[in-house]
Amino acid sequence: MKAIMIEGPHKLRIIDMEKPQIKNKDDVLLKIISGGICGSDIGIYNGTNSLATYPRIIGHEYAGIVEEIGSGVTNVKIGDVVAVDPVRSCGKCYACKNGRHNVCSTLEVTGVHRDGGFCEYVVTSEKYVYSTDLGKDNDYLVSLVEPYSIGMEVNNRANIKEEDTVLIMGSGPIGCCVMQVAKSRGAKVVMTDLVDNRLERAKDMGADVVLNVLKEDLSSKIEEITSNEGFPVIVDTVCSPRSFEQAVELASPAGRVIVLGTTNKVSEIPQVNITKKELDVKGSRLNNHCFPEVIKGFEMGSLTPKKLCTHVFDYKDAQHALELLQNSPDETCKVILKF
Ligand SMILES: [Zn+2]
Ligand SMILES: [Zn+2]
Repeated sequence: MKAIMIEGPHKLRIIDMEKPQIKNKDDVLLKIISGGICGSDIGIYNGTNSLATYPRIIGHEYAGIVEEIGSGVTNVKIGDVVAVDPVRSCGKCYACKNGRHNVCSTLEVTGVHRDGGFCEYVVTSEKYVYSTDLGKDNDYLVSLVEPYSIGMEVNNRANIKEEDTVLIMGSGPIGCCVMQVAKSRGAKVVMTDLVDNRLERAKDMGADVVLNVLKEDLSSKIEEITSNEGFPVIVDTVCSPRSFEQAVELASPAGRVIVLGTTNKVSEIPQVNITKKELDVKGSRLNNHCFPEVIKGFEMGSLTPKKLCTHVFDYKDAQHALELLQNSPDETCKVILKF
């Protein structure tokens, strides 16, 4: 079978390798349909993802058709279209025992720490796959269950509910996923960005208010939008040292600030800004069993992966797709590879 292998920074090759086979009773063999390209895939390609090791078959957003099942599989049947949760955890550490396996102390993610889904076939346990029915024409969108699961996790961490006004800093793919989940919970959502194209997409996908912070001053808008109270929930998808500082400043008393960044650069945040408003400042990483709820949103139409996807390429054009995403962030949102 063919696989997209990153042999080292800037070295992408489509290689031939042996088709994997079912070994355990609970294994399923998937014929991969599609894979979504994520910022972290670009980081592996560029050599800027400190978590990755080489050589690596990338891809943690992927979907496939069940082609074969082990003797003990009951969760799915042959012919099912499934999304694959990339989180692999130990089940024994403190986080795992406390229902937080997505931050397992020996966490591994397929496509980052071990081989991923950008190849023609994958064998995995049935416990990581989730059946989805979007109709044959939309099967390729099932690979976007994973990025939406990031958005679901953020909503769970921030406990976003109907009466909340949510500020999402940044209108890239993750910002849009967070927004659509928040909208499905009845919250009001304000989104920011520096690029009008992205803001237009966010608005089209359901954001209530969009703001280009190059042209408009966010602080002066707060009075109008929140009666000068600040935002009860702020999600920082910009992930710069300054955006984190701003998020803490713009939060309302009793607010929640959700951080997604992986930078090790320092933000300067006076303790009093957290204490006096009794803020919850929380990280959000990957997803904690969010696939079923995302799939429900896909099937009911409250989440619209089709609007997130701007480009579809054949997997053979993977290098071109990665470079397009890297070089034209203004024109791209989610880019999907078809296998
Ligand atoms: Zn991703
Ligand atoms: Zn663990």
